[in-house]
Amino acid sequence: MSGSAITPWVVGNWKMNPMQADAKELLSGFKKLLQNNEIKEENCHIGIAPSMLALTSVQAELASSVRSIYTVAQNVSRIAGLGAYTGEVSAELLKDHHIDFVLIGHSERREIFNETSQILNEKVKNALTAGLTIIYCVGESLEQRENGQAEQVVLQQICDITAVVQAEQWQKIVIAYEPIWAIGTGKTASPEDAQTMHAKIREGLTQITPFGASMAILYGGSVKAENAVELATCPDINGALVGGASLNAASFYEIAQAFANTK
Ligand code: PEP
Repeated sequence: MSGSAITPWVVGNWKMNPMQADAKELLSGFKKLLQNNEIKEENCHIGIAPSMLALTSVQAELASSVRSIYTVAQNVSRIAGLGAYTGEVSAELLKDHHIDFVLIGHSERREIFNETSQILNEKVKNALTAGLTIIYCVGESLEQRENGQAEQVVLQQICDITAVVQAEQWQKIVIAYEPIWAIGTGKTASPEDAQTMHAKIREGLTQITPFGASMAILYGGSVKAENAVELATCPDINGALVGGASLNAASFYEIAQAFANTK
């Protein structure tokens, strides 16, 4: 399967946003846009990652959409199962609430919450054991890019999880390449630079797993309606992880439409 034959994914990462009333308006606006002009499931998987607090209410709102939209957790505990772990939400609890997707390795969690590769491996292992699909985020800092270390850093972040992902489980992983310097900054990697990195990631994945050729590799970092088409045109960019622009129904819809129509 070539990179461009993979069904694209467009996933909105709401981060620590928005207030309840705004979330309701955002979802109803997005559902209306889909109703007027449906984006078919086979042309684009769509997901929304709200705060932990809003997971089940968003899931309930999305249930009345004209097509399936995945509800994605932004985080999961490094601890598995149930128990006395105040403030934590395990992969099993997510699964029990029919949340089947989770983001792991986002640079904000790596940097602000000091999530090391060991912690991320515990999360990856638990999520896979519970049967969740993971959107595993990787990406280099500006300094690492300027020092010519971008590919090495990104490939190492992928190699880090090989210790805990069993052969068949690679099918349950989506990669999101998010250069840290492009997140929330308005600076997007050029389509050429993004494609170069995505091709390297693809090459790395095919050396690790036979599923490497068919795994989706999303781009994240200031994706907007205005730059979605040119990113979608790149053969190894199989979708987008969208932060800021996912908080606007029309922008998020246009990004999904760009990937659905271009791929
Ligand atoms: C993100 O945080 O995953 C992200 C890509 O954010 P933004 O689109 O705002 O750069």
